[in-house]
Amino acid sequence: MNDKPEKFIDENGLRLDGRQIDEIRPMTIKIGVLSRADGSCYLEWGNNKILAAVYGPRELHPRRLQKADSALIRYRYNMAAFSVEDRARPGPSRRSIEISKVSREAFEPVVMTHLYPSAVIDVFAEVLQADAGTRTAAINAASIALADAGIPMKGLVAACAVGKVDGKLVLDLNKPEDNYGEADLPIAITQDGEITLLQMDGDLTQEEFKEAIKLCKEGCYQILEMQKEALKTKFSDDADIDIPDD
Ligand code: UDP
Repeated sequence: MNDKPEKFIDENGLRLDGRQIDEIRPMTIKIGVLSRADGSCYLEWGNNKILAAVYGPRELHPRRLQKADSALIRYRYNMAAFSVEDRARPGPSRRSIEISKVSREAFEPVVMTHLYPSAVIDVFAEVLQADAGTRTAAINAASIALADAGIPMKGLVAACAVGKVDGKLVLDLNKPEDNYGEADLPIAITQDGEITLLQMDGDLTQEEFKEAIKLCKEGCYQILEMQKEALKTKFSDDADIDIPDD
């Protein structure tokens, strides 16, 4: 069934879900939701629902996989069978293996793995409900879960996608924009603005590409602020102290 909307942006410049073209979906963040994990985060972003759990650093078994000078990061992105309209087939798929790989690489430049030789840091990102942008939502949740686990990092990582509909760039694609849009470009950045993940589907001109990265970074910076705020609240509540702003 083709349910492609006739128009994605109305005469007032608003998208199908009422957002401006440069507006991200509402995000809520809960930290430390799993008692057995070393760090965890439940994140809702629009209709996406993600649970991230971090275990480690812990000794890596089997030992032959250990790295003598650093920890190994393992990242597993998984869609629950019930997370999508048509049941998602349980177990790894080409898509989930690819997303797990690029997401792990998004964290490798910031996690200070050299402090934990022979260890492993396991990151699990479970998509409970999917509605476009799950890889970026999972990275945002995983970043917080890593911080919650006390893993030393140079900074947080934030991720967002930008795309193109009706010939215009739009930030943080919703489902119809993702399904029927002209482009989909997810990125992840560090707090310093270094890009650690960049993927792209569809077509953009060079000018549009540059503009898209700029727009997407703006989205990521907003997310970084929300991540920091959530962590500050969690840890000041836990310690019952006031943490001053930057
Ligand atoms: N999707 C789905 N079944 C799948 C994979 C994806 O229904 O097996 C939906 C889901 O809502 C997802 C969206 O398609 O969020 C876009 O998927 P994409 O591969 O672009 O990754 P995402 O945008 O979630 O990172």
